Amino acid sequence: MISFNKAPFTGAEFGYIQQAIDGLKISGDGLFTKKCSAWIEERFAARRALLTTSGTSALEMAAALCDLQPGDEVILPSYTFSSTATAFVGQGARLRFIDIRPDTMNLDENLIEAAITPRTRVIVPMHYAGVSCEMDTIMQIARDHGLRVVEDAAQGVMSTYHGQALGTIGDFGCYSFHETKNYSMGEGGALLIRDEEPIETAEIYREKGTDRSRFFRGQVDKYTWVDWGSSFLPSDMLAAYLWAQLERADEIDEDRLRTWRFYRQAFEPLADDGRIELQHIPEGCVHNAHMFYLKCRDLADRAAFIAHMKDHGVQCVFHYIPLHSAPAGQRFGEFVGEDRHTTVESERLVRLPLYYGMDAHDRQKVVEMALDYLQRS
Ligand SMILES: *Cc1c(COP(=O)(O)O)cnc(C)c1O
Repeated sequence: MISFNKAPFTGAEFGYIQQAIDGLKISGDGLFTKKCSAWIEERFAARRALLTTSGTSALEMAAALCDLQPGDEVILPSYTFSSTATAFVGQGARLRFIDIRPDTMNLDENLIEAAITPRTRVIVPMHYAGVSCEMDTIMQIARDHGLRVVEDAAQGVMSTYHGQALGTIGDFGCYSFHETKNYSMGEGGALLIRDEEPIETAEIYREKGTDRSRFFRGQVDKYTWVDWGSSFLPSDMLAAYLWAQLERADEIDEDRLRTWRFYRQAFEPLADDGRIELQHIPEGCVHNAHMFYLKCRDLADRAAFIAHMKDHGVQCVFHYIPLHSAPAGQRFGEFVGEDRHTTVESERLVRLPLYYGMDAHDRQKVVEMALDYLQRS
């Protein structure tokens, strides 16, 4: 079976984990955590990057840093992972789901303004498949209305928008290093902070509400409980695993892009014929090949495609069930405007296997099996 995903692994992980253990520092903020966050800051020109226990916890920290009051509203797409929403629910916010653009599956920037009310505080663009949302428009709207922007860039590590790294454009950016992402530590993430002002509070939230970071910098002579917080530091052993991939980030990126381009070339004729649709990469967006998806005609066509692929040893998977249709989505928010694309497009979309180190024979087989189905029906 060609699996949909394989966790990235370069071979250097064991050695680095051993080093973390030998250094007798396996809790948070050890040598490898520092290496990883410094690398993120330098590579992506981020003012501050804090490694976290997950992409979800990075989102939770970002939501807490937005200083929301109960009943404040957040604008986000319905076509996203539950964590994008639940982080804000935890702060008492109401969710205002808006429709997506069918070409990128990202939130439609032209629908944001109509969803703004006097209670709106935050816009949460999620960069689906590592392809950027239209950030110039989103940032302009945020400035005009005095709103914060939290980028869910869980899938967007190494992607850029007009030269700027995803996750560094909004007030806060959230990365995920989950096993299913391009760079991984099993479970982990990072919070990127654009401005100086919230950094100290972010450090306090991350360290169980204490000013321990200030203490380690020698700014206070003992550390104490000063605010809300939780335990958002990952073990340095996990950071050691991640470091093995960050130091080879370009190689991993190029490898994934090779597979992505191979698929793209193979399926383009079918897209030209109108049999399927392929994802659009807008002008100015450089993506990281996080995902290759195609869109079938409808739900039935997609189910038949997935079954055909499975019968021939290829695991293909669909993606999000729109959050506004889920029980929690209905409880904590509402869809604003018309659901023109979110539901129908989500029912057509299917993702093909794509991971670092994918064998050329395997991707050839994926293409052959897919064409076998798509050209016949
Ligand atoms: C993976 C992902 C998350 C959550 O990241 P975890 O590290 O699994 O907590 C959040 N949002 C999006 C869009 C994701 O793809």
